[in-house]
Amino acid sequence: MVLERPGEPLRAAELPEPAPGPGQALLRVRACGVCRTDLHILDGDLPGRKLPLVLGHQIVGVVEDTAEVDSLTVGDRVGVPWLGWTCGECRYCTNGRENLCREARFTGYDMDGGYAEHVVADARYCLPIPEVYPDLQAAPLLCAGLIGFRCLRMTGDAERLGIYGFGGAAHIVTQVARHQGRRVFAFTRPGDDETQGFAKELGAEWAGASTDEAPEELDAAILFAPAGELVPIALKAVAPGGTVVCGEIHMSDIPRFPYEILWREHILRSVANLTRQDGIDFLRLAPEVPVKTEVAAFPLERANEALALLKSGKARGTIALTIDGKGES
Ligand SMILES: [Zn+2]
Ligand SMILES: [Zn+2]
Repeated sequence: MVLERPGEPLRAAELPEPAPGPGQALLRVRACGVCRTDLHILDGDLPGRKLPLVLGHQIVGVVEDTAEVDSLTVGDRVGVPWLGWTCGECRYCTNGRENLCREARFTGYDMDGGYAEHVVADARYCLPIPEVYPDLQAAPLLCAGLIGFRCLRMTGDAERLGIYGFGGAAHIVTQVARHQGRRVFAFTRPGDDETQGFAKELGAEWAGASTDEAPEELDAAILFAPAGELVPIALKAVAPGGTVVCGEIHMSDIPRFPYEILWREHILRSVANLTRQDGIDFLRLAPEVPVKTEVAAFPLERANEALALLKSGKARGTIALTIDGKGES
């Protein structure tokens, strides 16, 4: 499914099978998660980097050709995340912050991604998928899970955790946070009783509208909604010294707010991308929790419907595409 021009639906097309370059493996895609970042690229919120483009950066695939690599074996099942390549030499790459490499290339953005039957990926950025996860359930771990986990880490040892925007990442983070003994407070769109109920099922002790006051002071908050107006709201809800983490790659403008709500050492930060170490750590932790992913499956050719469902905010948990029915569990 190809993006030819931002703002237009994806188009089904027959492309030549991608040929692996040095260090790349050819994968047959089994399932690919649908992420809000895909919507931001599709809608043109993010500057276009490659057209035509195959979206998709939560790829579960099976290695088919290793002529150009020696670290993988034909038949290995691997995950391909958003971070697809880094320079390996800059000051970010050499001090554990490859997520900030200025030369970084991203799957389904700079390089064709997983809304396809085949993809090529740099073998060094392919992650091992825990065996217990079927293809479809594994797909959302690769971005919703990974980015969510990085956001959670940035909250330090916060016990009372607010989560604003309860979609794919939040439904995974809630399970990890509960496993770590944290208390979760979920904030959704006003009137979204269904999502508030879902948050409670997953272990949130309180769920309400993002416009509601938190029932008690929070130690940290994570924003998974791309709505800048939530930033001052979350800062006000968080106790002195607490952190507000913005987990989205794109957000509407943050309204002006008085310095008073930042004062007392509140920390406001974003989380950008992921490192391979985040991937390794999270995929090791997920089966221990165990994280259960709720995934609505769409066949590849219905990718536009899947994206529309994500945009509507009505998806429960996450959405993923299955390819040739092979990702069906
Ligand atoms: Zn993503
Ligand atoms: Zn670098």
